[in-house]
Amino acid sequence: MPVSLVTASYLGATILFILSLGGLSNPETAKRGNWYGIVGMAIAVLATVFGYRALMAGDQPIVTGNGYAFIVGAMVVGGAVGLWAARTVKMTQMPELVAIMHSLVGFAACTIGFASYIDTSTVFPTHAEHVVHVLEIYIGVLIGAVTFTGSVIAFGKLSARIGGKPVLLPGRHWLNLAGLLIVIVCGYWFLSAESIAAGMLPLIVMTVISLAFGVHMVMAIGGADMPVVISMLNSYSGWAAAATGFMLSNDLLIVVGALVGSSGAILSYIMCRAMNRNFIAVIAGGFGAAEGAAAKKSGEPVGEVTPISAAETAELLRDSKSVIIVPGYGMAVAQAQHAVFEMTKALREMGVNVRFGIHPVAGRMPGHMNVLLAEAKVPYDIVLEMDELNDDFPSTDVAMVIGANDIVNPAAQEDPTSPIAGMPVLEVWKAKTSIVMKRSMASGYAGIDNPLFYKENNRMLFGDAKKMLEEVIAALKAK
Ligand code: NDP
Repeated sequence: MPVSLVTASYLGATILFILSLGGLSNPETAKRGNWYGIVGMAIAVLATVFGYRALMAGDQPIVTGNGYAFIVGAMVVGGAVGLWAARTVKMTQMPELVAIMHSLVGFAACTIGFASYIDTSTVFPTHAEHVVHVLEIYIGVLIGAVTFTGSVIAFGKLSARIGGKPVLLPGRHWLNLAGLLIVIVCGYWFLSAESIAAGMLPLIVMTVISLAFGVHMVMAIGGADMPVVISMLNSYSGWAAAATGFMLSNDLLIVVGALVGSSGAILSYIMCRAMNRNFIAVIAGGFGAAEGAAAKKSGEPVGEVTPISAAETAELLRDSKSVIIVPGYGMAVAQAQHAVFEMTKALREMGVNVRFGIHPVAGRMPGHMNVLLAEAKVPYDIVLEMDELNDDFPSTDVAMVIGANDIVNPAAQEDPTSPIAGMPVLEVWKAKTSIVMKRSMASGYAGIDNPLFYKENNRMLFGDAKKMLEEVIAALKAK
């Protein structure tokens, strides 16, 4: 494949990736967006594997000799693992899968950085070009290492293999500052190294510090800040890919990395706004720590709750004019979205105005609830963002919370000492009656108690969300 065709293919793939991102931003066009991405990636891989690149010595194939055997072997193994993961990973494990995938991008950036450094096949005509190349390697390995270990820890936190509470080392900001200074000094040492052997030590020292920083940074993040960290690591993985593109002089990888990096950065900003948090404060960590705050132990009861049965719930819903459903992580765990749709359909047929209130950080990944509701075919026009309907709760008869907890916690507004103080929440307690559907009094991801449960107008419908919804639907249809 001549260089001109490779360039044209890269351009086509770039356009497809941009269309893909545009498509994925809306549930109605998401499937089409996914297909754009698949076709774009297929073109990108084919053009890279079979293409030529322009070098000083003339155009040469990008992959040569045994390279094809390695690539086919790697694609078979990687494809098989990907297929297995796609088939076996449950919807609730999706966020952790995304986190571990980000770690692979970081790992690839690191290893490609080291390989590029010891590769002597590319000769740079000027010293300046050589310096730019080693700088690309240094930055690429740095971002890759932070992304790698940060994502592995995020995977551990999301899959509950590591506790959600922030781990705060004494003098952690000083430790980070010392690490940064060593990385800068090593960078100078690396750039001025006369030989590969001389540059290897600062490169390894920087890598070790970056790996440790990735662990330290994400370990210090408290439960409720995790959404920002997920989107931030998403962004980092994009910048790591872009840095790899610079190291390999691959324009497409640079563009795609920049697309992922900037869209991840925009998502981080949106998540910060949703949590009413400052980005720097998130990185500094500690949100949700028990220190200084009157954090109650998870599930520790601080009052009386009023339970309600499925039949009574159906009665309340049937008598309502307006109902707002607030889904959360528990709906995903119970796979209750289809039952939610059935109940919504039944209520709408009875003339009840049913709407959904979606908190930006509900569930365990951005857009988690929207994906589940779209899968269950809930009409998009009744699925609203928190800001669009938060003022409507006072005129709502029933606010039904399905497997949500932190996103409806009034302590965020009422208790300045709460670890989630200041985070915007869905004000379900302002409805005439709120019903919380969950299995026990256990806390949510942030690990804190929820005063909503003890409010006078709140009822607790204890049980698995899917099972309880089926009972409510049966009771609704029985009359
Ligand atoms: P929460 O984690 O606060 O609460 C979920 C609730 O669901 C739990 O209290 C649990 O209670 C209940 N539950 C679990 N399984 C079931 C089931 N089978 N049936 C019924 N209920 C069930 O979830 P929210 O969605 O309210 O809030 C999201 C939290 O996750 C926030 O703290 C957010 O910061 C964090 N987060 C969000 C990310 C994102 O990108 N969206 C990423 C990482 C973290 P019980 O065990 O009693 O049933």
